[in-house]
Amino acid sequence: MTTAPFTAKDDVRHYIHGKQTAAAGSKRQPVYNPATGAVSRQVALATAAEVQAAVESANRAFPAWADTPPIRRARVLNKFLQLMNEHTDTLAAMITAEHGKVFSDARGEVSRGIDIIEFACGIPHLLKGDHTDQVSTGIDNWTMRQPLGVVAGITPFNFPVMVPCWMFPVAIAAGNTFILKPSERDPSASIFMAELLRQAGLPEGVFNVIQGGKDAVDALIQHPDVAAVSFVGSTPIAHYVHQQCSLHGKRVQALGGAKNHMVVMPDADLNQVVDALIGAGYGSAGERCMAISVAVLVGDVGDKIVPLLAKRAKALRVKNGMEPDAEMGPVITREALERIEGYIDLGIKEGATLVVDGRNLKVVGHENGYFTGGTLFDNVTRTMRIYKEEIFGPVLSCIRVKDFAEAIQLVNDHEFGNGVSCYTRDGNVAREFGRRIKVGMVGINVPIPVPMAWHGFGGWKRSLFGDTHAYGTEGVRFYTRQKSIMQRWPESTENGAEFAMPTAR
Ligand code: NAD
Repeated sequence: MTTAPFTAKDDVRHYIHGKQTAAAGSKRQPVYNPATGAVSRQVALATAAEVQAAVESANRAFPAWADTPPIRRARVLNKFLQLMNEHTDTLAAMITAEHGKVFSDARGEVSRGIDIIEFACGIPHLLKGDHTDQVSTGIDNWTMRQPLGVVAGITPFNFPVMVPCWMFPVAIAAGNTFILKPSERDPSASIFMAELLRQAGLPEGVFNVIQGGKDAVDALIQHPDVAAVSFVGSTPIAHYVHQQCSLHGKRVQALGGAKNHMVVMPDADLNQVVDALIGAGYGSAGERCMAISVAVLVGDVGDKIVPLLAKRAKALRVKNGMEPDAEMGPVITREALERIEGYIDLGIKEGATLVVDGRNLKVVGHENGYFTGGTLFDNVTRTMRIYKEEIFGPVLSCIRVKDFAEAIQLVNDHEFGNGVSCYTRDGNVAREFGRRIKVGMVGINVPIPVPMAWHGFGGWKRSLFGDTHAYGTEGVRFYTRQKSIMQRWPESTENGAEFAMPTAR
């Protein structure tokens, strides 16, 4: 073992006004260790009264927090950053225990979350407005950005630390108070981070956590005192959250599902491509919104690369994620396992060539775990459901196209547009790809182009509903609103009412 496994057994509760709490007798739901299939903890499901208490707490805390100078808010985040660095392994073990991903990958997730906290520590600079001296004689005009109030974040199971960190560090640095509704599948990290924020000196009520599923989400998105909602999850729920928030007059950004393609040109370095496809297709058991699930093989690439991919997919080390040499862990739930293996059955029926079959994998000593091996399909076509739909598991589909133009068309026709990658040695092909592709995040010889903290993350088409991407300066814009102030002092006041539109003088 690389580090001690996470073994807490007590119930996962909410975190409201600086305290862990859950009403006695309220509903609970099991949290599983996907590697063993055993129930590890129970998570409380928030009642309407608990959601109300969290919103009230955040509302009460807002005026003082919004008034706190940004540099002092940043100092709290700096302390939190230090604590997150100190506790990276604890958080990573928590992720592996509830999500299943391998420990090294879980550490990577925490590290990418920490990047956003580092970014948010620069909030005094990020909140600087602009100023024009003398827009007219004796009159100045400037803009400032002010926080919105109580904002909520609803997050998916696949990144229980990183995706919440896309949201709350920026939101609270900007002066908002925050309510996190994490995934009910792997909720422990949310409470651990809440405790670290408390230790860092964050005032009570600035960060709250509500556990639960649809009921908790609905209560938050309908609450009149919640000003804005950030959502990350599957496309149908993202669409629903976007519609409901719009209906209730809230600002909303809702990031949805994906089907990410990697276009492989005939001139690409095939060794690099195989490494990239195996890592990006099967890493985290394909449960990443930026996982590559479709390899678009241009010209004669298919015949050369499919045998190489098959050899590597068969050799994947699929184990409990806490084993130091594990390359892929289990998937999140038994239902997910059944859904993924159901898609493999479907692919065969649809006529795709099953090159490597990951179904019915048994991991010795973990017979009740939710394991499936890496699956590889060849000769997939654009009309098959295994191509059109998000499988969200370790299933890589190869689709063969004759040329670059057909590859671009294929990607652009897909309903999702989260991430995409192109492997080539030709600069002009790379440039054209970047310009013509209708996808939010593009990698050139980079398989998973997750933007760094200061660039912002977001897809196009049905991978994102709303106008702004997550984190980066887009995140700062999302969590603030602009105010323009125009000022004139008595010495410069001119006499008399003006009835014409004022112009610069
Ligand atoms: P999900 O949509 O099932 O759940 C996301 C959140 O919504 C959870 O907090 C869940 O409790 C809540 N929820 C579930 N059903 C709901 C309902 N009917 N009404 C209201 N709320 C509901 O997603 P998931 O399975 O946790 O995560 C995997 C999905 O997230 C994949 O589709 C993946 O592509 C996507 N994802 C997207 C991004 C991105 O940045 N675009 C990032 C990570 C994950």
